[in-house]
Amino acid sequence: MANRTLSAIASDVNGGSSTARAMTSHWLDRMAKWNASLGAYLAVDRERSLAEADAIDARIRAGERLPLAGVPVAVKDNLHAQGFPTTCASRMLEGFRPPYDATVVTRLKAAGAVVLGKTNLDEFAMGSSTENSAFHVCRNPWDTTRIPGGSSGGSATAVAADLAPCALGSDTGGSIRQPAALTGTVGLKTTYGRVSRYGLVAFASSLDQVGPMTRRVEDAALLHDVIAGHDPNDATTSSRPVGLAIPSLRQGVKGLRIGIPDEYFTDAVDPQVRARVEAAGKALEGEGATLHRISLPHTAHAIPTYYIVATSEASSNLARYDGVHYGQRNPDAIDINGVYFGSRSKYLGKEVKRRILLGTWCLSSGFYDAFYDRALRVRSLLKADFDAAFTKVDLVLCPTTPTAAFKLGEKVADPVQMYLADILTGACNLAGIPGVSVPCGTVSVDGCDLPVGAQLMGPNWSEALLLRAAYVIEAKCWDPSRVPTFAEARS
Ligand code: GLN
Repeated sequence: MANRTLSAIASDVNGGSSTARAMTSHWLDRMAKWNASLGAYLAVDRERSLAEADAIDARIRAGERLPLAGVPVAVKDNLHAQGFPTTCASRMLEGFRPPYDATVVTRLKAAGAVVLGKTNLDEFAMGSSTENSAFHVCRNPWDTTRIPGGSSGGSATAVAADLAPCALGSDTGGSIRQPAALTGTVGLKTTYGRVSRYGLVAFASSLDQVGPMTRRVEDAALLHDVIAGHDPNDATTSSRPVGLAIPSLRQGVKGLRIGIPDEYFTDAVDPQVRARVEAAGKALEGEGATLHRISLPHTAHAIPTYYIVATSEASSNLARYDGVHYGQRNPDAIDINGVYFGSRSKYLGKEVKRRILLGTWCLSSGFYDAFYDRALRVRSLLKADFDAAFTKVDLVLCPTTPTAAFKLGEKVADPVQMYLADILTGACNLAGIPGVSVPCGTVSVDGCDLPVGAQLMGPNWSEALLLRAAYVIEAKCWDPSRVPTFAEARS
């Protein structure tokens, strides 16, 4: 099934040669076999998914034809899907069942998709390895001693190991693109305001975006076209018409000017990773694009700026988990302090607490000007860097991550090292622009093939153009039907 595009699946179901039930059962069976060793899913409900599939089959029998007919989708567990829990991989939300669907889930279901389960993540989407999940680790199917990236590591692993044909993730500083790069999948972070966050649990509201994670660029384009667009339930969504990606996907890159930013090809980037991304640039050149060296001079400030903005917003967003308004309540509390302090101490994990403390400190009187306000000013400089670049080039090409997947446990003791995993992805969120990670080959690390992602970033609302260029890289540098050895050897 890894050979099939989402539109091929939908066309089989629309045409009656298969059913949503058969498709859903196929991936539920694969998941039943392999999820215990990979840890991609936090919640699965076979009966529920099959009931959703039957409802799609009934619509098809009644004559409807749907763009995602019978396509199962894995949903990151910080997005609401009715009937499934939403935990954000936190003890704080254990047992919580949302009473409504996130808008992205509503749209996917309306297009014929079936929710296959809820995927693992770093607690409240804070992390780069999925090791901050309060429940269990998630392993990279290319080498199960390595991390799949994060925070959407469960969605990335599910797609890479073919435990789902596609997934949704969320990206605040790289959480779709970085795990996509480390697992050989495609991940799209859309322009801020392009996709609704209604039903997404907020982490850093000026940065968060929901987006697709898929085996191939064409599938990401299809999901983009279904989920993008204005939502009356999310005031930050734009009412600008969606530039659909599917219609122009195969138009090629002839005449496109691609910027190669010096600051993203430094010595911090592994030479093998660099070589693969440079080869992706050559592939674009071979198809008629031109490459131009450019500078994004404030890039070095992206990580410190991101960690001030994101933690400040997180400290405010997570204030609601106090055991009174939201979340678990400390059963041993005998007074109000015992409720507030006790609940937060007991049910939030270490990294989440660290972020709340950092953010509270950055926003506190006396430090606000020196940190938060200054970070906002640097943020506009980062945005100005991109604005200037896009007067000279159409898109920017760079690596998604500085290295291939690292080992489980390798960076857990050193938060700064972990934060640096986002060094090439955070500026995109701060600027609000779209970015996509597309696999562009593998590197060999300790005798193991590990995938590398090429990142394309473009001006606001350029998703269709990004995917068009990504499609060329995929065609020249990658085989999207390749399932890593883990799954091949044991299935
Ligand atoms: N890894 C980054 C962080 O820990 C980004 C997370 C995300 O995009 N959700 O904040």
